[in-house]
Amino acid sequence: MLKFGTAGIPNGTKSYEKGIELLRNRGLDALELEFVYGVRMSDSRAKEVGQLALEHGITLTCHGPYYINLNAAEPEKLEASIRHVKRTIQAGRVMGAFSVTFHAGFYLKQEPKQVLAVIRERLLEIMADEGGPGMPQVAPETTGKASQFGSLSELLQVVKGQENMSVCIDFAHLHARSIGRYNSAKETEFVLEKVVQALGEDALSHMHFHMAGIAYGPKGEKHHLNLADSGLNYSEILKVLKMWDVSGVAICESPNLQDDACLLKETYSRY
Ligand SMILES: [Zn+2]
Repeated sequence: MLKFGTAGIPNGTKSYEKGIELLRNRGLDALELEFVYGVRMSDSRAKEVGQLALEHGITLTCHGPYYINLNAAEPEKLEASIRHVKRTIQAGRVMGAFSVTFHAGFYLKQEPKQVLAVIRERLLEIMADEGGPGMPQVAPETTGKASQFGSLSELLQVVKGQENMSVCIDFAHLHARSIGRYNSAKETEFVLEKVVQALGEDALSHMHFHMAGIAYGPKGEKHHLNLADSGLNYSEILKVLKMWDVSGVAICESPNLQDDACLLKETYSRY
């Protein structure tokens, strides 16, 4: 079974208390905490939010800061990036999050293969400190622009063979990054086949997804849209996820957050 939720608390709510209550009332099951400008939450607050989510049957995920670049050349930037990833994982642990995601880095005009090796090594160092039992799954996210590290195949190579790691597949990003591909049942099956090949069948039982409408140009992602205003074929994608019995969490990043999250859940439930 897939759970559906919003990227950040729902529109019109101002606190995790109200947000989680609204999610429950709308029949949604998940919430991603958006630490995109830094992890600014005390451990005691993270614990409270975790407890609240547990009481309401809401599964939590976390999104790390935008400033992360595990391929940064300057030592200060690299150290800050490592700190951001670690803080996101730690906050996720305290609140009992299921999975944490972030954009791993940039090519900085370097050879993609070399960048992959660097990012993999740095993530494995982070996991040596922050992995292990009781820790959330760590799942770097597929990115929406070809200039940003994070194609599906790159990320699968990064996390392959690693305990407690997976990939966060953002279907809108896959679609935008490839300038219009990844938008059919067949292409969705291809994505799942790739995941199984790299990570094994079991990976499909704890997936982390993002979905939203998206506007894109020749360079990839421009911005998110509501599903109704976008060409993303979410219905076909969800059909395949249902047919393949994929489990985990799908987070909606459309501007209308909870409305599209409900639309995704309803569509999924119909298959
Ligand atoms: Zn993201």
